Amino acid sequence: TFGLLISVSCLAQIPAYKDKNLSVNLRVKDLLSRMTVEEKVGQLNQVNGGVLTGPTVANDPGAAGKMNLLRQGKVGSFLNVVGTEQTLAVQKEAINNTRLGIPLLFAFDVIHGYKTVFPIPLAEACSWDLAGAQNTAAIAAKEASSAGLHWTFAPMMDVSREPRWGRVMEGSGEDPYLQARFAEARVTGFQGDLSDNEHVMACVKHFAAYGAVEAGKEYNTVDLSRYALWNYYMPSYKAAVKAGAATVMNSFNILDGVPASGNGYLVNDVLKKKWGFDGFVVSDWASFGEMIAHGYSANETEAAKQAIMAGSDMDMESQVFNKTLVNTVNEGDVPLARLDEAVERILRMKFKLGLFDDPYKYHDAEREKRTLLAPEHIKVARDAASSSMVLLKNEILPLKKELKNILVLGHLSESQDDVLDFWKGQGDHKNTVTILEGIKAKYPNAKVSFVKTCTRDGEFIKGSEKEIKSLAKKADVIIATIGLYGDLAGEARALGNLNPPAGQMEMLAAAKATKTPMVVLVQAGRPLILTDVVKEYGTILYTWIGGSQHGNGVADILAGDVNPSAKTVMSFPASLGQVPVYYNHYNSGRPHSDGQEGPDHFWVSRYRDIPNEPLFPFGYGLSYSTFVYSDLKLSKTEINKNETVTVEVKVTNTSKIDGIEIVQLYIRDLVAQPIRPVKELKDFKRIMIKAGETAVVNFELPAVKLGFYDENGDDLLQKGAFKVFVGTNSKEVLSADLELK
Ligand code: BGC
Repeated sequence: TFGLLISVSCLAQIPAYKDKNLSVNLRVKDLLSRMTVEEKVGQLNQVNGGVLTGPTVANDPGAAGKMNLLRQGKVGSFLNVVGTEQTLAVQKEAINNTRLGIPLLFAFDVIHGYKTVFPIPLAEACSWDLAGAQNTAAIAAKEASSAGLHWTFAPMMDVSREPRWGRVMEGSGEDPYLQARFAEARVTGFQGDLSDNEHVMACVKHFAAYGAVEAGKEYNTVDLSRYALWNYYMPSYKAAVKAGAATVMNSFNILDGVPASGNGYLVNDVLKKKWGFDGFVVSDWASFGEMIAHGYSANETEAAKQAIMAGSDMDMESQVFNKTLVNTVNEGDVPLARLDEAVERILRMKFKLGLFDDPYKYHDAEREKRTLLAPEHIKVARDAASSSMVLLKNEILPLKKELKNILVLGHLSESQDDVLDFWKGQGDHKNTVTILEGIKAKYPNAKVSFVKTCTRDGEFIKGSEKEIKSLAKKADVIIATIGLYGDLAGEARALGNLNPPAGQMEMLAAAKATKTPMVVLVQAGRPLILTDVVKEYGTILYTWIGGSQHGNGVADILAGDVNPSAKTVMSFPASLGQVPVYYNHYNSGRPHSDGQEGPDHFWVSRYRDIPNEPLFPFGYGLSYSTFVYSDLKLSKTEINKNETVTVEVKVTNTSKIDGIEIVQLYIRDLVAQPIRPVKELKDFKRIMIKAGETAVVNFELPAVKLGFYDENGDDLLQKGAFKVFVGTNSKEVLSADLELK
């Protein structure tokens, strides 16, 4: 049929690849048959754009050079060209001024919003609200696509236990199961079915195991067992691929001594063959070229060859494909068939997005105008902010409605910059609500005073204590913000000190000395070490980095208009020496247990000078309601491999206020070969329970959920004794026994 259809199209005088009535596969094959090797390699080249057209770039040789490259058919995609005006102008060049008129893909890091900025992904994951995350991804896609973008480099699905790593802000914490559920939600939200012009392609990154970087240093080594790789790090990428993610990004790290970009096990064997991934794989920024510095490739020619032969398809910014691949293919060093396969994968996506039928479907200035910062988006951002903030300790919240005098402290309370970064998309500080603004809006009749107290870097501003003292006298409450500025989370933001800055601790001490009741807000893109704060202060809300509506989200919680419900998805270390500290660890042969505290019990796995346990465990977070768990029951105490057990628990809201509780189900496989972690999250429910009411919560736990992976990523399900736990966090749980027959 291929030949027949081509000849029919020829009669009609349009090339088959432009014929809407033909299948995508036929159109791709037809186009491929018309392309030179140079044009094929061009499709694999992704170039950093910025502003490329218009009067402002008339004298910019960089921009002119990139446009020349484009006109020669040597660019398949740009990143960082944004906005309808630019994307439209550049797309027109591709359509009108290249030989075959192949449309470009425009890509951008839309990580937690485009113009309306949502909480950082780590914070959003603390909501455990999958529908919410799908919705924020859908809104981000709607805004980004209205600005001419086809593709976001998200979701980042790197499980991580490393608060020193700046990029934990981009992921969904330390648990593989939860991360996998967020992977599905976000991929679905970003992509829809990709047939309209209101969605964007997702890009699952960073493949693979980037969250395991040694000591949390960016661009660093990963040295990991295959068993841990499959059980902790792979499930989220796998879930995202299964959910239909159109693209996957290589990671910067090595695995088994081979850089991920050139790692045939990861890309060819696992992603493409084992998982049947049919989208395309893009490098991380310059990561093909960086294989030279890794000591894996002798030169650019070898790097390009190793990358493409490992199965990677598109080169972001290292230009090694552009510079070397035409020769390598012409000399027969890289088979033409492999080049064709890579090009086909990329073209297929361009067809799927409908760009060959209407290359301008994403570029509509009117739509852009009415979509960005639409009121319904702002409302979602406000809800997302308050549902991501974790109440760690509480003595005085919610505050009374009729406050007359409020003292707000700390530079971060008034900073617009710091509630958007890192990866703020096109978020701008004008459209951002600070904590100070949020509080003023919430309490219009109160006198709200503010003392900066600290510099951006956290140094105490001399003389502030006097001001605090005089203002605190009249204040009903002090609201003090500590933490790190936004730009201290994100890429290349590894930190070796996770304590709040000393000047901020001085600020808290000065405020405490006034004896006025105080709320401590902590703002940061990662868990900080709060041991000293927790010792001294009674009310602590961890606000993370909440996006455009950060200040309103905080004020909603302080005033009790929103009852906090978030639970942390990373364990909070009690001390830096504990890191990595996480709930789903393996047991030692000499486990530390609470029964073994005391000076005579050092011959167990524990520190002599610091606690063993984290300050706050995975899954922890308070509410203004109190929930009591009781009557954990299993429908059967034994199941076989094809059966499902129903796990039932009663959760009573014993307080006078309605609240959302995140009910968590964990398991433990008591004896297994290889061994299993002491706890593994397998399900959760986020439910509203009215004041005084009892909810009967049911989980269906199929036997397959008791399974795990061997070192090849194949399923294992071993008979034997299990524990099933249900509780309010990973530590406080009820338990029951289950036998797998
Ligand atoms: C980051 C990626 C990002 C890319 C493009 C890289 O440095 O690691 O996560 O998508 O840049 O901006």
